[in-house]
Amino acid sequence: MCRHLAYLGPPATLRSLLTDPPHSLFRQAWAPRRQRYGTVNADGFGIGWYTDGDPVPARYRRGTPIWGDPSLPDLARVIRSGAVLAAVRSATEGTAAGEQAAAPFADGRWLFSHNGRLDGWPESAAGLAARLLPAGPSGAAILLSLEAMVDSAFLWALISRRLRAGEAMAAALAATIAAVEAAGGAGRFNFLLTDGQAIAATASGDMLWYRRRPAGSGAPGSGAPGSGAPGDAAPWSVTVASEPDDDGPGWTEVPARHVLTATPSGVSVRPLAPAAPGGP
Ligand code: GLN
Repeated sequence: MCRHLAYLGPPATLRSLLTDPPHSLFRQAWAPRRQRYGTVNADGFGIGWYTDGDPVPARYRRGTPIWGDPSLPDLARVIRSGAVLAAVRSATEGTAAGEQAAAPFADGRWLFSHNGRLDGWPESAAGLAARLLPAGPSGAAILLSLEAMVDSAFLWALISRRLRAGEAMAAALAATIAAVEAAGGAGRFNFLLTDGQAIAATASGDMLWYRRRPAGSGAPGSGAPGSGAPGDAAPWSVTVASEPDDDGPGWTEVPARHVLTATPSGVSVRPLAPAAPGGP
């Protein structure tokens, strides 16, 4: 399983968010503490981030281990953002390699990561596409149109169709899991999604944690400037991640089979529909 993390809050350097914490996403690439499946995440990584006023995020992805990228430390030191989604990858058997197979996947203003697997990939995907999109393109056409032959890219194709049709982020994640399971699909569906304003995520097969706190109460918010406007309430930040990146207070685990929506001003968690019989 991969590890992933999303952050919303005052602008902070990628370094403070992704490599400085004692059990950072960077470190989780080789020493995750709570990973249920797999031991290292060496099959690539990706970082997506938003900058002021531009609703479309930038991405930096590589198909190599995050610790072996000589360019990343410089970038992480100078890039600052108030909305970041990043992942380190442990490729599922039978999926493609390379940077195009690494999360975050993107579509317009959305960034997406998947920690888990679609069982039976890729054969199961063609059948699911035919059942879930009966009036749409054939299953084979959907698979051929994917950015990379990865179960995560296929699931993202299902989710992004819903987003483009106007579904809210958490609803699109939950509905996709329900639809895949109702169509006979099984697997582990830990999704992480942002539009730069809010984060939606699911716990379905692996852990999910979040921490919401006033900025300046420790890394990653530490050193981040407030709004500066007199009388403004102190800004808050929220981090949603596969596992806590430090042993500090404030981390809350999301119960299994739940979907979360998080912004710096609040977090809500609600149950997913029960798995269909025969599902996970
Ligand atoms: N199945 C996805 C991939 O191959 C995610 C893998 C994971 O969570 N380890 O990239």
